[in-house]
Amino acid sequence: MEQLSALSVPGQERPVDHACAPWPYRLLAVDALHRRGWRPSALREFVLKIHQRCNLACDYCYVYTMADQSWRARPAVMSERVWTAAANRIAEHAERHALDEVRVVLHGGEPLLAGIDRIAAIAEAVRTALPAPVTARLAMQTNGVLLDEATLRALLRCDIRIGVSLDGNQSDHDRHRSDAAGRGSFAEVDRALRLLSGPEYRSLFSGILTTVDPHTDPVACYHTLLAYRPKALDFLLPHANWSAPHPDSGQADRSFGSWLIRVFDRWYDAPRQETRIRFFEEIIHVVLGGASHSENIGLSPAAVAVVETDGAIEQVDALKSAYQGAAATGLSVLTDPLDRALSHPGIIARQLGVDALSEQCRRCPLHRICGGGEYPHRYRAGAGFRNPSVYCADLASLINHVWHRVHADLRARLRAAR
Ligand code: SF4
Repeated sequence: MEQLSALSVPGQERPVDHACAPWPYRLLAVDALHRRGWRPSALREFVLKIHQRCNLACDYCYVYTMADQSWRARPAVMSERVWTAAANRIAEHAERHALDEVRVVLHGGEPLLAGIDRIAAIAEAVRTALPAPVTARLAMQTNGVLLDEATLRALLRCDIRIGVSLDGNQSDHDRHRSDAAGRGSFAEVDRALRLLSGPEYRSLFSGILTTVDPHTDPVACYHTLLAYRPKALDFLLPHANWSAPHPDSGQADRSFGSWLIRVFDRWYDAPRQETRIRFFEEIIHVVLGGASHSENIGLSPAAVAVVETDGAIEQVDALKSAYQGAAATGLSVLTDPLDRALSHPGIIARQLGVDALSEQCRRCPLHRICGGGEYPHRYRAGAGFRNPSVYCADLASLINHVWHRVHADLRARLRAAR
């Protein structure tokens, strides 16, 4: 099996050799894995980076403010040649692996900067390329600023579900999510979310994505998000790693773990479910013995590939927080089938489950639930990705808390049923 360890990246004169990440690039024995009969899982989610720029300048954005700056050398907008090739590669992959459904996420930068006509053409190209009976679930993650009625009407016609990023009330949101001139985006996002949660467009509203700030009041943040009646919420830990830890990491008085626990208790103790919180649902599901549906919890294999505006096939986008070229595979939809990405050490490492974990994680009693945390958060320069998450203490406290709450509930219900 070919090892793809020296990869060219836009804006770099020399190929990326992933020297700062011996795991997996030097230490993972791909050939031995295949001889033992290991086989990769198919990709099921495809993130199309249809626009490379953004109309906001959020202070924690991994694309523009962290290690990888490859966006600078890529085309601003995905061309028809690239999205047609991407659609055909997705169709080819779905057919080869007998998938019945794929998820295609339009992403950026800010995807709405690509213009609604281009977005409609991309949606049409993806659906047209897929052979029957494969269906595509199309989604978009937007900052919401450009989400007006005309755009929503067009997205409704295209059947594209919409997730919006909002970090809480006006001051909490605007502290991080402002434009290049420092103007906060809350007022525009609030207007967009009111439209999206109204009867006409509610069917499109997939949920709100919130990046955790431990300086904010977690319950007040939850109530702000809940006011838009989202079907689901996603809470993200800000991207960080052992070589670039978050400035608030290790602050006992305002930890990310205790912030999440307070939201969990407020959500879990509600007399009826007010919304779904996917991160918590996944933990509960794995605590009860199920398999996770997300690569961020548990040991499920990663099934995501990213296609950049120039056609480059990349690994999970958040790897850009680790080092220049960390997400690169050296492949392109213009020249390579997506199946070739399944031979890439970086993608294989995220499909190995427990075998990809550090010694510390393997000894950890929570590893089956935690899964070692988000892959980019495990990075340490010179070692790579075989480390516990930089958020290990936060994950452990949250998972322990959920475990105890769920098991206490089960015991109480069993007693009541006797
Ligand atoms: S809690 Fe920490 S040590 Fe345990 S599996 Fe998660 S990251 Fe690894």
